[in-house]
Amino acid sequence: VALCDAEEVPPAPRPCDVESHFNWKLFWQFLRPHLLVLGAAIVLALGAALVNVQIPLLLGQLVEIVAKYTRDHMGNFLSESRHLSTHLLLLYGLQGLLTFGYLVLLSRIGERMAVDMRRALFSNLLRQDIAFFDAKKTGQLVSRLTTDVQEFKSSFKLVISQGLRSCTQVVGCLVSLSMLSTRLTLLLMVAMPALMGVGTLMGSALRKLSRQCQEQIARATGVADEALGNVRTVRAFAMEQREEERYGAELEESRHKAETLGRGIALFQGLSNIAFNCMVLGTLFIGGSLVAGQQLKGGDLMSFLVASQTVQRSMANLSILFGQVVRGLSAGARVFEYMTLSPCIPLSGGGCIPREHLCGSITFHNVSFSYPCRPGFPVLQDFTLTLPPGRIVALVGQSGGGKTTVASLLERFYDPTAGMVTLDGRDLRTLDPSWLRGQVIGFISQEPVLFGTTIMENIRFGKLGASDEEVYAAAREANAHEFITSFPEGYDTVVGERGATLSGGQKQRLAIARALIKQPAVLILDEATSALDSESERVVQEALDRASTGRTVLAGTHEELLKKGGLYSELIRRQALDAPPPEAPR
Ligand code: ADP
Ligand code: MG
Repeated sequence: VALCDAEEVPPAPRPCDVESHFNWKLFWQFLRPHLLVLGAAIVLALGAALVNVQIPLLLGQLVEIVAKYTRDHMGNFLSESRHLSTHLLLLYGLQGLLTFGYLVLLSRIGERMAVDMRRALFSNLLRQDIAFFDAKKTGQLVSRLTTDVQEFKSSFKLVISQGLRSCTQVVGCLVSLSMLSTRLTLLLMVAMPALMGVGTLMGSALRKLSRQCQEQIARATGVADEALGNVRTVRAFAMEQREEERYGAELEESRHKAETLGRGIALFQGLSNIAFNCMVLGTLFIGGSLVAGQQLKGGDLMSFLVASQTVQRSMANLSILFGQVVRGLSAGARVFEYMTLSPCIPLSGGGCIPREHLCGSITFHNVSFSYPCRPGFPVLQDFTLTLPPGRIVALVGQSGGGKTTVASLLERFYDPTAGMVTLDGRDLRTLDPSWLRGQVIGFISQEPVLFGTTIMENIRFGKLGASDEEVYAAAREANAHEFITSFPEGYDTVVGERGATLSGGQKQRLAIARALIKQPAVLILDEATSALDSESERVVQEALDRASTGRTVLAGTHEELLKKGGLYSELIRRQALDAPPPEAPR
């Protein structure tokens, strides 16, 4: 019975990633603070297992007494069995207590380790290069933080609790079995491994099926996720029915797989029930003949039965545990993989230029660059540009021409493949990146991203610890104060996920306030008004003009100039007619 109980659908597998090795050294670092508690848990678990080994023996003795009274009907049953019963009761109590103890300790260790691991992984993920995020899917990274840590934790707990207990019980019970009856034990030792072997084979086939099931479910979820996440596009193309059909087909496929799995599990359970019942019957039959031949006491047969059941259950547990260990190790490997990964561009470290000496002059010296995830494709080649301090320089070029790339290099999201970028004559690579991003450069992009919190917090994101007055001043400078105070909740208005409850122009002005609050010496405006309608463009542009005075400004423009008509758009139009588009803004 036991074998099949646990053969339920295992947790979702992770197909596509490349397996990495489990990092035992790192694991040890997470485990070390808990060694004392772990030791206590192990002692308690061993204790519980040993008590479990004792119980069948005592039960057998009790049965022996019962049998005697059934035969002879004399003496006082209660007084004779009282000692044994109290002993058993005490053992039951002790067993319960030990179980309680080690489970509490284990859950304590598991939860704390999970928190430590999540914290470490999250902090290391946040430190990775932007190039790392170009190549990875956010969903996969998040699932390493959630599912993988979860799975690793539960495997760890299971190995200590079940693994230790089952091993002890198997060994202990085998010892007492062989003391009870060597002949029966030998028989059992032949029958059981054979059954276990068959069971394991079937089990692994079922696991494979269940993995396929999970993958299919994930595929179906992916379809739904995509459709719901992009509902506006789906609606705009009137694709509801097609999406329904796609989802339906995936669901149908997953139903088919799940039913096959269900039949497999049913067969497995049915067969293993028969097998185990037959073993009980066989033991009783052979043992019974031994009892009849006076080679075995009835009570001992009872002990034997209970103990052999314990062995069977424990071995079944161990075989399931094995699968869990494999999954836990690969989950752990995925968790640890990104913990040891170090970025090429560190978050901090390097020189700073004191504010009073900072001019904000920027030069790109013969910079060549291609994105790490697309190494064969040069975006900038031998690109040279000087931004004089306090002046506005505009990069104009078609979309895809490399304007955003230039801004990213200035923010040091990436390092140039060749050449260098300097700030006041110093190579960016020698300067502290967090100082550069946090205090020197203000970045305003085409599509500002806000966080799902209050307006106050969003602006303060630009400078942690800014006072309310500083926030108000920045908002005024960004032409945002008025619309903010017109909201009933003013600066405490929560802007919704990614700022969804604001208009484009309002979002952009908050982004400007957020950039201005750090009073940056250098301002990057990456097509900051191109996504706006002309009315909000006017207020935003006004804020930008005000923000630009006295700062070094790198502005990327294409749309704005196009919209204005005039010479630029005419140039672009002609160029498009007679030549392929330029590689990079020059
Ligand atoms: P612009 O801002 O002028 O429209 P970009 O700097 O965004 O142009 O893009 C320049 C080129 O680099 C484009 O061909 C684009 O496909 C490519 N590119 C942009 N971002 C990435 C990225 N993260 N990874 C790889 N290629 C990129
Ligand atoms: Mg761009």
